[in-house]
Amino acid sequence: MEEFKIFDENYKIISENIAVAAERSGRKAEDITLLAATKTVSAEVINHAIESGIKVIGENRVQEFTGKYDQLLVDRVDCHFIGQLQTNKVKYIVDKVSTIHSVDSVKLAKQIARLATAQQKIIKVLVEVNIGIEESKGGVLPQDLFDFVEEIRGIEGLKIEGLMTIPPISKEKVEIRNYFSKMRQYFVDITEKKLDNVNMNILSMGMSDDYMLAIEEGSNLVRIGSALFGSRKY
Ligand SMILES: *Cc1c(COP(=O)(O)O)cnc(C)c1O
Repeated sequence: MEEFKIFDENYKIISENIAVAAERSGRKAEDITLLAATKTVSAEVINHAIESGIKVIGENRVQEFTGKYDQLLVDRVDCHFIGQLQTNKVKYIVDKVSTIHSVDSVKLAKQIARLATAQQKIIKVLVEVNIGIEESKGGVLPQDLFDFVEEIRGIEGLKIEGLMTIPPISKEKVEIRNYFSKMRQYFVDITEKKLDNVNMNILSMGMSDDYMLAIEEGSNLVRIGSALFGSRKY
């Protein structure tokens, strides 16, 4: 199948690039998690990716995810939710994912925790940071980040595992690097506070166009869609 071949070729190149960027930042390829962002990708192709070695997938649309879920090799992959999430949709995904990357309100955190607890489960959450302070974007503003972590870390049923960001679109590499570097600093600052129920394990940043930059600046989880599966046809 053509899509399998596209994936195979891209997967090889991206794996090599991740190793290069990891080395530049004094780490190894194994220190970086490659999350395959699977929006618009068919279950068949996702399963091929899983069989080829992809260990983490991320969906960002609730309806699309639940529609594909039953066909996926979920026993062999860790499922994350990476998109903006409305509180009233949490119920559709809470039993299907280990980790939610896009927590940016107390209301959402509480709903995730409530439904996770009902399933005797603890959901890992990343706090999404609106690092470019863009009005159109989700995420907690940088100036509110510490207070937000304080506010949700005590909620039973969830565990803060790290931070996530989608930086503003820019052609300037220095600018993007700067956003990633700021994120890394917040990640370190929160780590150093040694807060109960907060583990800064995951710094989720970097997508198809900027994953090498992100890794060089300290990301340990990159979310890659089009560079892996080919450009999306909507
Ligand atoms: C689609 C998506 C990605 C991957 O984007 P690409 O540019 O295709 O790599 C990463 N993160 C989120 C939240 C996404 O929605």
